Amino acid sequence: MRRGLGADVAATVLDGKTMGTFWRVSVVGMDEGKAEALRQKVQAQLDADDRLLSTWKNDSALMRFNHAATTEPWPVSEAMADIVTLSLRIGAKTAGAMDITVGPLVNLWGFGPARQPVKTPDPQQIAAAKARTGLQHLTVINHAERQYLQKDIPDLFVDLSTVGEGYAADQVAAWLDGRGIKNYMVEIAGALRLKGHNGQGDLWRIAVEKPGDELGQVQNVLTPGDNGISTAGSYRNYYELDGQRFSHIIDPATGKPLTHKLVSVTVIAPSALYTDALDTGLMVMGADKALIFANEHNLPIYTLTKTDDGFKVRFSRAFAAYQPKP
Ligand code: FAD
Repeated sequence: MRRGLGADVAATVLDGKTMGTFWRVSVVGMDEGKAEALRQKVQAQLDADDRLLSTWKNDSALMRFNHAATTEPWPVSEAMADIVTLSLRIGAKTAGAMDITVGPLVNLWGFGPARQPVKTPDPQQIAAAKARTGLQHLTVINHAERQYLQKDIPDLFVDLSTVGEGYAADQVAAWLDGRGIKNYMVEIAGALRLKGHNGQGDLWRIAVEKPGDELGQVQNVLTPGDNGISTAGSYRNYYELDGQRFSHIIDPATGKPLTHKLVSVTVIAPSALYTDALDTGLMVMGADKALIFANEHNLPIYTLTKTDDGFKVRFSRAFAAYQPKP
């Protein structure tokens, strides 16, 4: 636990590990005596989210559904039904660019629990994995107050990695709101939820990382206000094979990792699940389509595209409000 000391009021910083990465909650003006109890509560909440949504734990609720080779309705919790309903809705809104059924392709390209392939998957392997994907194969059923997931191909593999961290951040934010905590920043890896002010009484300021191999280079600093914010990038989670670089974001239409030059998309919206799902879909679309989508939906996004002379910055109309005044 670390204390970020602000000029006026101390921010208490709690942290831990979850979902193969880190979490951190900064709370301004809290009673120090309650910090460890709060840390344990947040950790317990995130452990529960991990047991629900992980594709890295074979016994998670999601993996029990993925392993069930059945097309019968499969009982799930209300939380799982809500997450899948929202993810399918965002998937449809992005015309399948964000597709939670992309699991077989994620695993084929080595970005799931199965590690990196030793040689580039061949067209037959890609076609076979792609045939097991598609939003149309997954349905959420609400019947007599019970919730179910139903797949119409038995070996459908749902991957909620792109929404899990955002969902978890929303859950922690809702818990803090419920306890009347008015100034906090929740970070679950790259998915954040912010409320109120930092220890200096200013809006929380979030740095957008400059893409590249050097960690922690700042490209821009934003003030998202009481919102969620997340960034998807193709420059951090990748590997090189046969002289090609493969990123962890898959284009469901081609069945292959992205090859275009859009390398980072930052999205701001009230819910972190929404920003976390959308940033992946917008990455798949590429810069031009992502900006058209964002302007059509009045969505604040900030994009970085790799060019021969560095990174080209483009952002949507709605984004300007979040750019700090110089
Ligand atoms: P995002 O851009 O948010 O999402 C990219 C991920 O979404 C990819 O990794 C892939 O899984 C999937 N994806 C790719 N393309 C698409 C697409 N077009 N549409 C939809 N989804 C797509 N990592 C570990 O190393 N060990 C763990 O134990 C572990 N446990 C986890 C448990 C949970 C509940 C979650 C949510 C994640 C876990 N992870 C773990 C990390 C996870 O596997 C991803 O690496 C991570 O979520 C990617 O986050 P991101 O923000 O970098 O990528």
